Amino acid sequence: MKSLKLYGPRDLRLVEEPVPQPQPGEALLRVRAVTVCHSDIHYYRDGRIGNTVSTEPLVLGHEFCGEVVQAPAGDSHLRVGDLVAVEPAISCGRCRFCQEGNPNLCEHLFFAGVPPMDGGLREYVTYKPEFLFPLPANFTAEDGAMLEPLGVALHSWDLAHFRMGDTVAIVGCGPIGLLMIQLARIAGATEILAVEPLAYRRDLAAELGARPVSPEEDLERFAAAHTRGYGVDVAIEVAGAVPAQEEAARTVRNGGRLVMVGIPPEDQLLITHHVVRRKGLTIRIARRMKLTYPRAIALVERQMVDVRSLVTHRFALEQGAEAFELVAGYGDGIIKAVVCP
Ligand SMILES: [Zn+2]
Ligand SMILES: [Zn+2]
Repeated sequence: MKSLKLYGPRDLRLVEEPVPQPQPGEALLRVRAVTVCHSDIHYYRDGRIGNTVSTEPLVLGHEFCGEVVQAPAGDSHLRVGDLVAVEPAISCGRCRFCQEGNPNLCEHLFFAGVPPMDGGLREYVTYKPEFLFPLPANFTAEDGAMLEPLGVALHSWDLAHFRMGDTVAIVGCGPIGLLMIQLARIAGATEILAVEPLAYRRDLAAELGARPVSPEEDLERFAAAHTRGYGVDVAIEVAGAVPAQEEAARTVRNGGRLVMVGIPPEDQLLITHHVVRRKGLTIRIARRMKLTYPRAIALVERQMVDVRSLVTHRFALEQGAEAFELVAGYGDGIIKAVVCP
């Protein structure tokens, strides 16, 4: 089978490998769609995220959907031919953090596409059925892959403890930010500010019902002007850039909540202390996601969240490097690129 492997910064190679053999209790999947995430770009460009370094050749891709080719004997929830969404985080289920309901913080965690576990940018993968979610009939493979970023958006949204009628600022309108705007609509936000430097992404945010603003504006004043002088109840930083952290903090009212989702390449959290101290902000930091697939599937199935229109560019596995360059460079009006192995 063909497999797209990262050998070093900006060195992706298409290699031939044997089809993996499922162990007892595992399923074999034919990978159908992999969407490219900015955390993949960190490995692609820098060979690392924070202190997690890729030293061996690695198959990237943690947002993916597969078709069941072989279901494990005795398993009743998977059928051959089913499309399944894949939970990239393989948690142990037994450690203190799993037992407390936080599998995303598991101390024995493996994550697809993060060293040392290969991800989805290859033709076949083997997987444990408890981490696979069969999809309703109206789902495409791309929809299935997009459930992972939607899960991150949902988990981050959960951390905000948003109340119906609250106001929100979404700082960063990449795929997750645009999903967050949709969640804000459903959740009854009375004002959605969308902070984004790229004009084409601001336009999309506006189409989804947000009030777009460039980070070059005076954000504190802008937020106050649209929230009866107070600032927003909740700000969510989803840009993955150091300046966005402060931008998010500046939009929030006294006693408000700030959720940090983005992963800045500088590996730093930098906010002017008096800004968050004087406002007495509650700051929460999102770690990937947990237990979100059933809700993500239901939201897409009922057409309450549109993931499909966010996929703007499509590539074959052979063109994987092109997809990564496009995402890394924010070229050609890109929102989300999908690679179909
Ligand atoms: Zn991702
Ligand atoms: Zn665990």
